[in-house]
Amino acid sequence: MKIGIVGLGYVGLVTAAVLADRGYEVCGIDIDSAKISTLNSGSIPLFEPGVQELLKKNASNLSFSTYYSDLKDADAIFVCVATPDRNGEINLDYVFSAFSSIITNSQCRTIAIKSTVIPGTASKVFEKTGIHPVSNPEFLSEGTAVNDTLHPERVIIGGIDERDISVFADIWAFTGAPVVKTTNESAELIKYASNAFLATKISFINEIANLCEKIPGCDVNVVAKGMGYDKRISPYFLKAGLGFGGSCFPKDTQAIASYAARNGERLRIIESAIEVNSIRVLKNIERIERKYGKLAGKKVCVLGLAFKDNTDDLRYSKSWELASKLSEIGAKVKVYDPVIKASTDIDVVETPQECIKNSDFTIVSNESKEFLNLDYSATNILIDLRGIMENNQADLKVGVFDKN
Ligand code: NAD
Repeated sequence: MKIGIVGLGYVGLVTAAVLADRGYEVCGIDIDSAKISTLNSGSIPLFEPGVQELLKKNASNLSFSTYYSDLKDADAIFVCVATPDRNGEINLDYVFSAFSSIITNSQCRTIAIKSTVIPGTASKVFEKTGIHPVSNPEFLSEGTAVNDTLHPERVIIGGIDERDISVFADIWAFTGAPVVKTTNESAELIKYASNAFLATKISFINEIANLCEKIPGCDVNVVAKGMGYDKRISPYFLKAGLGFGGSCFPKDTQAIASYAARNGERLRIIESAIEVNSIRVLKNIERIERKYGKLAGKKVCVLGLAFKDNTDDLRYSKSWELASKLSEIGAKVKVYDPVIKASTDIDVVETPQECIKNSDFTIVSNESKEFLNLDYSATNILIDLRGIMENNQADLKVGVFDKN
């Protein structure tokens, strides 16, 4: 069976690598010719653990191209293109353009939308093209994407055409995950409701962190731990910090909130989660300045630049936002990140010690495990904004009472 993957970002490339490993003949298409050249030279254009190895191992099952005509004899196609934010609304142009290119260049009409799209998108594709796509949203997390694709917690398949639904259900049958077969609209909304729920959980615990910072004896990290043992709550995404970032939660919460408002239904909880999140970085800078005075002119080492551990994805990164805001207010900022080694506008250094040495402040801003075992003796003040350090190691910690 020949499978086409359209859009070779974090989702498309991982899907391509995993399906090639399952023995499918996979052809990946992207409009970014630099990306295709990189892939054809045996390298990968992004950082995602395990992908390079899978691509290498399965090179004989894989091809990469900018030509949609290479999908002419595909049996099934996954559309994995970007669906970014445009002025607070989802931009579906890439999705529609991908469908139009598939229809012009390929006979294949068994097509799944893996990109995150608002309810009604599959129907719009039908209106525009006469094709009923299947909705098969993706739930992987960057940093663990290969494992998440091999072992998803569920497979969601929405659609109208029974034959197409079973083609995609069969492709994912090897995972053994429960399959929810439903309408396109429910499948599309399951993805948004899931992401919005997780984002809300993060904002919820960040508000509890704000409260803990006012109460002597309270530590949000312990409060979250105590809450998380309750299976109904669960410990996941219950970690106070700088807020949610990355390429999904910020744009997806915004997209579903504005989609709902356009349909006459305000999603107040999600709107609040977005609002709480939007002030996290500033609130933390204010807290540091309240305790230690103005940061202008101070040497600040920021540990972490990506939005989380084990990725090079900078989209909506709270660490990047923190480093940028600190620079804006006049701090002399250096950043160390285990994965990212360069960035425009921000001074990224090679080693953690280069960053920490002689700094007035070292701020832990993402949860990389490497930061747990560093020697912090060469910094004046250690600040843990992700709650990863053991008690008292940091001078200031997220969600812990601060008497100043
Ligand atoms: P990405 O930006 O990393 O990659 C998208 C790719 O699509 C790019 O390489 C781009 O060049 C290509 N592209 C754009 N238009 C195209 C076209 N017409 N034809 C062919 N290629 C085209 O995006 P991503 O992070 O892989 O996300 C893709 C989708 O999956 C988005 O809707 C996203 O919300 C969703 N998603 C992402 C994640 C994640 O963790 N990154 C997880 C779940 C779902």
